[in-house]
Amino acid sequence: MKKYRLIAFLLLSAMLFSACGTQSVVIPDVQGDDSANPPSGDEPIVPSHPSILPIDPPSDPVDPPDPVDPPDPVDPPDPVDPPDPVDPPDPVDPPDPVDPPDPVDPPDPVDPPDPVDPPKPTYPQKVTFLAAGDNILHEAVFTDAMQQANILASTGSFSKKYYFGGMYDPVAALIATADISFVNQETPVAGDDFGVYGYPLFNGPEEIGNALIEAGFDVVNLANNHMLDMDRKGTGLYNTIRYWNDKDILQIGGYLNAADYENIRMMEKNGVKIAFLSYTDVMNGDYTPNKAQSDVVIPYADKSVMARQVAAAKALSDVVIVSMHWGSENTEAVTDTQKSYAKYLAELGVDVILGHHSHTIQPVEWVQAGDGHKTLCYYSLGNFLSTQHPIKNLVGIFASFTIALQEDGSVKIEEAKAIPHLTWYSTKRDNLKIMLLSDVSEADIRSHGSQLRTAQNGGTFTLSDVYAIVERVLDKKFLD
Ligand SMILES: [Zn+2]
Repeated sequence: MKKYRLIAFLLLSAMLFSACGTQSVVIPDVQGDDSANPPSGDEPIVPSHPSILPIDPPSDPVDPPDPVDPPDPVDPPDPVDPPDPVDPPDPVDPPDPVDPPDPVDPPDPVDPPDPVDPPKPTYPQKVTFLAAGDNILHEAVFTDAMQQANILASTGSFSKKYYFGGMYDPVAALIATADISFVNQETPVAGDDFGVYGYPLFNGPEEIGNALIEAGFDVVNLANNHMLDMDRKGTGLYNTIRYWNDKDILQIGGYLNAADYENIRMMEKNGVKIAFLSYTDVMNGDYTPNKAQSDVVIPYADKSVMARQVAAAKALSDVVIVSMHWGSENTEAVTDTQKSYAKYLAELGVDVILGHHSHTIQPVEWVQAGDGHKTLCYYSLGNFLSTQHPIKNLVGIFASFTIALQEDGSVKIEEAKAIPHLTWYSTKRDNLKIMLLSDVSEADIRSHGSQLRTAQNGGTFTLSDVYAIVERVLDKKFLD
């Protein structure tokens, strides 16, 4: 290829030389091969054809630039290796299960403290006792209770029909202070179906029970001459017993049947066991029981029964207290029958006799048995609450004594006292209240409703007259 291009070049150059004149052009002999006789280098080349001037050979043809080699193909970049797959994170191991805490050993069982010996009772063990006489709901009493209830109702503080509380308030603290307190409930509570009645055949409203309990009484006696007032066949008594048995108070003297009669009523206080028996020597009317309706027992005073029951009571208790409804009404004199029973009970070993029924106070004495045993006998406590007349019927006493149980099991009755009280009411026979006699003033006596009826008989009475009643009946050693 280069050879042809050279020839072409030479031809072109010759043509150009010819056209231009004098320019010598050296034309190589291209007719023969002079290679057999190459010219020396010193000798000018003389063209063989004189018309052809030798021409200088063109400068060396510029070699075309070497073809640029195409760039080496760029090697495609090495494929980028995909990133190594990221290994998923190693699964997180769930936390090791927390071991439950080691079970805590239960604390060593604490040895129970050595059993503490119960404190030894210090002897003598003592129980203070208070007893009130006849709680009689005369008509004026429950009429006043209704009036008091109406007054309270007007203030919105009471909704019952009868309110007896105010009558007991002045002595309630004393009643409540005693370890055990007793009252003779002379009026049945046979139920409202029977109606409410005063003298002579009584039936009290049901509000009376709570009033006595709230006043502080612990024992209520039902054995008295009015226990059959509502029904000689026993239905009213049966209702009355059931009424009191449902109350938070120890009921004595009312017995539903023969078995109940032999069930000795007991109370324990301060470690002292006390048995209660109850009899009545008087009764209004004959008891003609209707067995179909009731098997109630009337605890009539009967020495054989007393002997049996006192023996049973002594076996169960440290001290025996007997309630006796006996004697004659409205007299301060003790009857022979009372004395006979008192002596008999002393011989049986009874410790205390709580007498009532006369509606007046009667003496207190120690009744001595053949073996030397002494029985404290209150022949009559008089009326506790009533509107009876005259004034001696409005004076009563609290029996007050202390039962002292000795270490050898024997009992002493100590501090035997009689605490006089008076039922006060206005000239309208209302605003009843039981007052300790020591709290009664001359003014209270002057305004006492009982003065009206006394005046009708041409008289009057003073505070000294009231004290005189107490002092003529009771031995001073039983009065403070
Ligand atoms: Zn009576």
